[in-house]
Amino acid sequence: MATHAYAPDQLPAYPETPPVLPGTVGVHVVELADRLAWHEAQPDDLYARGFARAVHEEVLAELSISRRQLSALTTADKTKLAPHIQSLLSDKVAAADAHDPAVVNWLADRNKVSNATFLDFLRRNVEAVVDQQADMTAFLRAKQAAYADDVFRASLDGWMSTAAMDVSRTAADTRILVGDYWATHFHDVKGYKYNARTVVLAQGIGTTRAARNEDFRRTAPDTLVHEDFHVDFGQYLPAGFELFNEAGAEHTPLGLHYGEPHILDPDERRYDSGVYYQYRKLIADMMAGLDPFLFTRAVTSRNAHSQDWRALNTALYGKYGVNEVPERICDRMRSHAAQLKDVHPDRPFAVRNRRAAELTREELQTDPQLVLGRPKHTKPRHLGAAVLHKRRR
Ligand SMILES: [Zn+2]
Repeated sequence: MATHAYAPDQLPAYPETPPVLPGTVGVHVVELADRLAWHEAQPDDLYARGFARAVHEEVLAELSISRRQLSALTTADKTKLAPHIQSLLSDKVAAADAHDPAVVNWLADRNKVSNATFLDFLRRNVEAVVDQQADMTAFLRAKQAAYADDVFRASLDGWMSTAAMDVSRTAADTRILVGDYWATHFHDVKGYKYNARTVVLAQGIGTTRAARNEDFRRTAPDTLVHEDFHVDFGQYLPAGFELFNEAGAEHTPLGLHYGEPHILDPDERRYDSGVYYQYRKLIADMMAGLDPFLFTRAVTSRNAHSQDWRALNTALYGKYGVNEVPERICDRMRSHAAQLKDVHPDRPFAVRNRRAAELTREELQTDPQLVLGRPKHTKPRHLGAAVLHKRRR
């Protein structure tokens, strides 16, 4: 036994830690430091001491890696991160400008900020997320129950598919995790689907726990329904249907929370988030002159071969005179996105896709054959065919 530095299974049991999004900045080093403090407080024990020494070195290594990562950020990224650091360390640092990147350099500098203070910063980052997760559990459970009811009613009202009624049984199984600033706000992301049944929502921002919770209560509900859509419906769409997935995910919370589910065009709605604007403009153009609920029912039908998808495809065939209109539009948008990637590799993915949707919409208006190929109709049929001819240049 003396040949082992330590034998983890023989150490006293360390208490369980609360659930937190893996990847939360500091979560590993804070856990190590807590473990170290805990073992150091145990009665003198050879294994515990050996373990403590190893942990101590790992904590130091992790702290210096974190500092290096901070100082390696671009000035633009430091400007973005500065307010978060100031909000967590408001008792230790105060700059006139919340976005002053100097605060990031200060934190990363071992001559100015001790390891203890740096660890304290990481601990506060983790605690803000863990506390919010705990504080918001009941709130999120209630929101999720309301979402299940809303979807059930939307299905009865006929703007979501009948399959959407299943959500009332499964919505409570969705796991909701609060994501730390670095995983969300830092990338201009309000939430994301983490895996098949888990969504992440961006933490609330503020200098106190109460202020952060208040911000979360205000911002999280719409994002939750957007991500719920990806979990409950989007993941059943065919591969490459990002346009339909995101347009559906953004239109759904708007329809459920603000009404007007029949108005797909963001510019025509009384209230609009402006999120995925170009995607939804493209969908609105595609659906112009058709029953908008053909779209909302198809994307909530959980199966690309459903009755609802067939109904949408039939209507689009009537309008444009070609089959597989959704596939063709998605293909065209993807090929624009690929070209944009060649020309502007530095532009963010979201910016390129937004532009690709805009280009596809312009083509659909001015020269639909670029997007859809040649119509199969020999004579104009329905409204769409007439639109096609009128808009040709
Ligand atoms: Zn989305």
